[in-house]
Amino acid sequence: MQPRLVIFDLDETLVHAAAARLAHAPDFEFGGHFVYLRPHLQTMLEAIWPEFDVAVWSSASRPYVDAVVWHVFGKRVPLKFAWAIERCVQRVDIRTNSYVYLKDLRKVQGQGYRLEQILMVDDSPDKVARQPRDHIQVVPFVGDPGDRALLELPARLAHAFTTTSTGARSEF
Ligand SMILES: [Mg+2]
Repeated sequence: MQPRLVIFDLDETLVHAAAARLAHAPDFEFGGHFVYLRPHLQTMLEAIWPEFDVAVWSSASRPYVDAVVWHVFGKRVPLKFAWAIERCVQRVDIRTNSYVYLKDLRKVQGQGYRLEQILMVDDSPDKVARQPRDHIQVVPFVGDPGDRALLELPARLAHAFTTTSTGARSEF
């Protein structure tokens, strides 16, 4: 079987970083922020790691991405890559007159995967607007200790990789 690549967003997908401490203890602190890992993160990674190649692509800063990747993946799950804001495409959002940072899957093609072998897991549809068919959208994680979205993810990924019809990947 061809290798399949799952590219994870970080903020609100695998972790939540808050300037104010929540009611429960953070998993770690970085740059004055309290960082909370999404519940069931390790269970999900253990389920998908034997099946898929894993990478990270965040529009956050390089030092933040490095810190989160260390806490989430450590040495347990070797990543194909961990990209930060420097690999995103900067665009002006005319609604807000501010910059948005897009993840363009064409940048991944040099890594040896065809587009149909790649899925992005992201809470933000805007960030992956250029490849909606290759996108698994998860509800944003904002620190809820009862969040269960990652428990469903292995089955969603397996289903999505077997689905080719337009839009079917985002209908869960
Ligand atoms: Mg996000």
